[in-house]
Amino acid sequence: MSDQRVTISVVLPVFNEQDVLPGLLNELVEHLSEVSGGYEIICVDDHSTDDTWSIINAQHQTNPHIKGVRFRRNFGHQLAIFAGIRQTRGEFVGVMDADGQDPPAVLMEMFHKCQDDYDVVYAVRTNRKESFFKRCAYALFYRFYKLIIPFPVPLDSGDFSVFRRAVADFIAELEEHRPFIRGLRSWYGGQQIGIEYDRPERRSGDTKYSVVKLMLLGLNGAVSFSKVPLRLISVLGIIVSFLSFIYGLYLLALKLTAGINLLGWTSTTVLIVFFGGLNLFVVGIIGEYIGDIFEEVKRRPAFLVDQSVGINE
Ligand code: UDP
Ligand code: MG
Repeated sequence: MSDQRVTISVVLPVFNEQDVLPGLLNELVEHLSEVSGGYEIICVDDHSTDDTWSIINAQHQTNPHIKGVRFRRNFGHQLAIFAGIRQTRGEFVGVMDADGQDPPAVLMEMFHKCQDDYDVVYAVRTNRKESFFKRCAYALFYRFYKLIIPFPVPLDSGDFSVFRRAVADFIAELEEHRPFIRGLRSWYGGQQIGIEYDRPERRSGDTKYSVVKLMLLGLNGAVSFSKVPLRLISVLGIIVSFLSFIYGLYLLALKLTAGINLLGWTSTTVLIVFFGGLNLFVVGIIGEYIGDIFEEVKRRPAFLVDQSVGINE
């Protein structure tokens, strides 16, 4: 980090967004130029395979406020944001997607709100223009997430937000391998507030998040902040033991009164299959936590930077 402060730094994680990026940067610069005290835009290229990196370089040549970092390989959206936050030096830091789904006008609104003595202002999506399936999945996820997380987390809010330097420093100093930015931001606490916006569709190209990737993101968000899934296993164990005890009593009564004549092949098979599945499920949940520990204890760097432009100059 250089000593020279700016008022606001905007972090843009970018992966193969050559069609959207130039327009978005123009729009952003138009808004940010009005901020007194200066601005910077940190584009983190998550190893794009299209012209994204040359666009970032060209943009830096015409406007040195636009800077770039390029990953050595694709490390994912969350690590791109994380790496970007580490490079910021603004009094305020904004995070937004580079596909046009997070409008610059809303970023500015959050920035102004944040200046009213808030630590964090996050955007809450009201009208999602996404498929029915995706909307249901999001709605379910955020509600479940809220239930199991031991601190307040807003519903329907992603990474799109503006926060103060202190929050950025807190995140930048972490050494987690799978940072879940929106969770860490909530974990910080302080004065936080949401503002609502209609989330538009991406301007061009396809989502880079497959359903599987989204589910992994959700799983990571749960595992990295909550022990509730582990506790649920204990509760499940107690419930199952209790039910099997009742079932045992029932069988005993049957044996003493009517006698059992080789009845119960179906129930035995069903029970074996059911508990086999349940066992695997439970081991899978524990495995998620062990996998996380495994990642962390190796102490490899979370990401590798290949090139950068305009950083530390
Ligand atoms: N992105 C990234 N690395 C990836 C996938 C996505 O940096 O591996 C960026 C992408 O360019 C965009 C943001 O993360 O700026 C959000 O991705 P996307 O729009 O595909 O996700 P969605 O909005 O569909 O959840
Ligand atoms: Mg998007």
